[in-house]
Amino acid sequence: MYSPIESQQGFNFKPELPTSSSYYRLLKKLRRQVGHAIRDYKMIEEGDKVMVCISGGKDSYTLLDILLNFKRVAPVNFDVIAVNLDQKQPGFPEDVLPAYLEANNIPYYILEKDTYSITKRLTPEGKTYCAVCSRLRRGSLYGFAQEIGATKVALGHHRDDIIATFFLNLFHGGSLKAMPPKLLSSDKKNILIRPLAYVEEKDIIKYAEMRKFPIIPCNLCGSQENLQRAMLNNMLREWDKEYPKRLHSIFGALQNVSPSQLADRDLFDFEKLDEEREFDLKDPEEMKKRLDVVNLGFAAE
Ligand code: SF4
Repeated sequence: MYSPIESQQGFNFKPELPTSSSYYRLLKKLRRQVGHAIRDYKMIEEGDKVMVCISGGKDSYTLLDILLNFKRVAPVNFDVIAVNLDQKQPGFPEDVLPAYLEANNIPYYILEKDTYSITKRLTPEGKTYCAVCSRLRRGSLYGFAQEIGATKVALGHHRDDIIATFFLNLFHGGSLKAMPPKLLSSDKKNILIRPLAYVEEKDIIKYAEMRKFPIIPCNLCGSQENLQRAMLNNMLREWDKEYPKRLHSIFGALQNVSPSQLADRDLFDFEKLDEEREFDLKDPEEMKKRLDVVNLGFAAE
């Protein structure tokens, strides 16, 4: 059994809230960005039961914390419930999340499923576990959301995850797609939301440090982070240092797409352009105007 306040790992599960002005500034910024994302994509509505998937990483702790904070001031009533999938990875400190959630009076479920062994069995020799692992995790969590009647499933992906996914697809997948702030799961049974869609990763890192969340690393399985994703994350960090506005502009571009300026024939009807032209080559009046322009051109020479 776990202690409600401290664990063997030395975490304090209910540390004093920071009092510095920089903490309040950051909290205000995160709350504002989460509020805007929720409003812009109509993520949460009156009576929703939001299941927050919590892994023990900085992103999901921050998501849960800001959503609970937002719930206190939001104009709509909704419930928040934390759910962790214990994947039975060797060495997973299973007391940490329950102790944190209980110490902070947060309703939760721990779902136990040995997806770790299945992942090892299904992953081809020499490949990293992450693809199979996350597919199994998604399946278990989304199924559980239906069992508990959750109307929304909240995931902790942030703005920089969205941008990194966009570049992964651009560089290696041959498609222009990222991670949407809100989507219908592929089996059409769950609405998934990403309330941190406008939040920068560096702010989450700062917030998690200030709040002293009891972070559980996501490499307990011994798997390595996907190499391409790691390289992309480095690239984005470098860009952010050198050109502070660049990531902001890239995310803005994802919200400001011009299908007619790309080349996807399913997205834009290029054939119809001929019908839409407002210039009739057979109209004698139009032809007269055209000849005048040509004549002007000659006159100027
Ligand atoms: S690092 Fe481990 S737990 Fe995290 S997705 Fe990859 S295989 Fe799964």
